[in-house]
Amino acid sequence: MKIFNTLTRKKEEFQPIEEGKVRMYVCGPTVYNYIHIGNARPMIIFDTFRRYLEYKGYEVNYVSNFTDVDDKIIKEAIEEGTTAEEVSRRFIAECKKDMADMNIKPATTHPLATEEIGGMIEMIQRLIDEGYAYAAADGTVYYRTRKFAEYGKLSHKNIDDLEAGHRDIKVTGDLKEDPLDFVLWKPKKEGEPYWESPWCEGRPGWHIECSVMAKKYLGDTIDIHAGGEDLVFPHHENEIAQSEAANGVPFAHYWMHNGFLNINNQKMSKSLGNFFTVREIGEKYDLQVLRFFMLSAHYRTPLNFSAELMDAAKNSLERILTAADNLKHLGSVAKSEHMTEEEKAFFDATEDFVRKFEAAMEDDANTADAVSAVFELVKYANSNASSENSKEYLEALYDRLSTLCDVLGITVARKEEILDAEIENLIAERQAARKEKNFARADEIRDLLLEKGIVLEDTREGVKWKRA
Ligand code: AMP
Ligand code: ZN
Repeated sequence: MKIFNTLTRKKEEFQPIEEGKVRMYVCGPTVYNYIHIGNARPMIIFDTFRRYLEYKGYEVNYVSNFTDVDDKIIKEAIEEGTTAEEVSRRFIAECKKDMADMNIKPATTHPLATEEIGGMIEMIQRLIDEGYAYAAADGTVYYRTRKFAEYGKLSHKNIDDLEAGHRDIKVTGDLKEDPLDFVLWKPKKEGEPYWESPWCEGRPGWHIECSVMAKKYLGDTIDIHAGGEDLVFPHHENEIAQSEAANGVPFAHYWMHNGFLNINNQKMSKSLGNFFTVREIGEKYDLQVLRFFMLSAHYRTPLNFSAELMDAAKNSLERILTAADNLKHLGSVAKSEHMTEEEKAFFDATEDFVRKFEAAMEDDANTADAVSAVFELVKYANSNASSENSKEYLEALYDRLSTLCDVLGITVARKEEILDAEIENLIAERQAARKEKNFARADEIRDLLLEKGIVLEDTREGVKWKRA
């Protein structure tokens, strides 16, 4: 399988560190709001990549963090008159719901930055001991960027051309030895969450979080590190500088970056305010449509979001789901059980589409071509399945279609219809569970309903529900 590696700017054959296993880290969102559909792009792309690796038989250890301490979270908490912890917990829960609706598999581990502070202090101390970092008079700890000889190797920037001005936490700057130095630890400000450390009461910089979480859950050297292309510099460049200086071994063998999701050909971002949340889009479309829309383009190219393209994606997806429905229906009314020799030959011919699908995915996860192969299979199934066929043949076609779609994270089975009375019963059970403070069961019921497309809203007048 070939992967385009940002580090070498080439498509390279994928060689895992350990045979049959993949260690993969994907930078997750900062949780101060609902995620927007730009944030959803890496989630969908790398989840699809993971699904393909699993389809090939790899055991994937997939780690994706939540950045749950950050200036933006603190700002939101102050505005709402609550704590940063409350804000981040709430939006982690909301993010997980969106992920489930987009058929994104939960990571093997979803570490939270705030639960890994000990590891961060340890790594920072090591960097200080090795001369790669220093504490300034106010307790801020900086990374001594120029000390890391290979700085710039991921973003292909020359250190002398670089200027400071990172997306990183902005502190005075005057205390730095060099403007290129970036923050590893910063002192608290009044009212901010903080942790004790050898340097000051404070909190970690953003970059050190990922270095530490990747190390803890995946080891010093990992196979794949991924994220959106805006993270190449400085975030991932800094992660490399930290991890390689502290661990003394290469950090990640392959670096994968997705292109941006744009709107009106402009970058979609929270700071520009031109974004749609996944939740908003979920009110208009089944979120499988959003997933399908993203997969219709190559992950490294920019992708423009528009209602027209979403409607086109909806229609295309519908063609696949209808073909699957049709096979299911025909299978349930088939007059004969077993495949005939002729049917076997017809079924074997579909291996061609599987080969095309795999060849596309092998080529740096070319999901656009993989989707085309699925359409070829759909077309074939539409013209080579009828009520005259055997159950075994029709089911085999259905399974083949369903398996390929599953790699893309598309579920071809329609969501089961749930009756109003069943919903009301489940809501009553949830209320009872809450009264007994059995919040786990209450959440479970909420998630179960959500899976069936039922959204609950807790209001002063009681629980309201609607079909999404
Ligand atoms: P953030 O919460 O901004 O740190 O972003 C979380 C992830 O979403 C990172 O991998 C970003 O690169 C990615 N991301 C943010 N905005 C977009 C966008 N408009 N298109 C694609 N990826 C994005
Ligand atoms: Zn990261």
